[in-house]
Amino acid sequence: MLKTVLITGASRGIGAATAEVFAENGWTVIINYNSSGEKAHALAEKTGGFAVKADVSDPVQTEEMINAVIEKYGKIDALVNNAGISVTGLFDLVSDDDARRIFDVNVFGTLNCTRKVLPHMLKRRYGKIINISSMWGQTGGSCEVHYSAAKAAVIGFTKALAKETGSAGINVNCVAPGMVMTDMTACYTGEEVEEIKEEIPLGRCGEPRDIAETVYFLATEKASFITGQVIGINGGMVI
Ligand code: NAP
Repeated sequence: MLKTVLITGASRGIGAATAEVFAENGWTVIINYNSSGEKAHALAEKTGGFAVKADVSDPVQTEEMINAVIEKYGKIDALVNNAGISVTGLFDLVSDDDARRIFDVNVFGTLNCTRKVLPHMLKRRYGKIINISSMWGQTGGSCEVHYSAAKAAVIGFTKALAKETGSAGINVNCVAPGMVMTDMTACYTGEEVEEIKEEIPLGRCGEPRDIAETVYFLATEKASFITGQVIGINGGMVI
């Protein structure tokens, strides 16, 4: 029976590349999206997957999405909590609404999806949960204070849940990407990107597939003895 992965925020960027890598390896991919329906459906067609709309920050929409997936495919072998947003600006200038939204999507989105998928994994005593944090969650990023705090929460969540569910056959890991070229980083000017590259030992920014390949590895049996870990994928920017 084909393995099934649910990837949140898979309509664009790192999530879309992750869907492609899983599909290339023979998995059934469930492509969650919120606003980019056209892109998600095109990707579903390309990968033979299934596009499903839900704002992951909304527990009701999340539950409906997961119920629909379970009804259609019977199981979720791997959950990739990738959906995320960032807001850049000095800490005291970020509005309360933006601050709340950063936590709602990056943190509560991860909690909501995991909470609804986990019971199905526990029943089978099998499951892989891979959360997408950020190097800023490890080190803290100036002008990304709320985002850094939210991504640090994702790391804490990963470690704690790994301890709680390891004996039930669930692996919970986290990847912490560095600078990756997606819509999220499109706000940087060419000059700023060149400056950032100078801080990266490998001399380049990441591409979405750099992250996707590691996420895929963590979902395979080759990674069966890895849990509660934070894998930095940043070209050496954080060592
Ligand atoms: P992106 O290109 O901006 O894509 C973000 C994705 O998240 C989109 O597919 C978007 O879907 C989805 N999304 C946003 N809000 C959502 C919501 N409420 N419910 C469901 N989906 C939602 O970003 P990216 O660079 O690929 O980032 C992916 C993940 O990697 C994020 O968690 C991000 O924080 C993390 N990350 C990125 C970088 C980087 O340099 N790019 C570095 C470190 C960590 P719709 O368009 O359909 O709304």
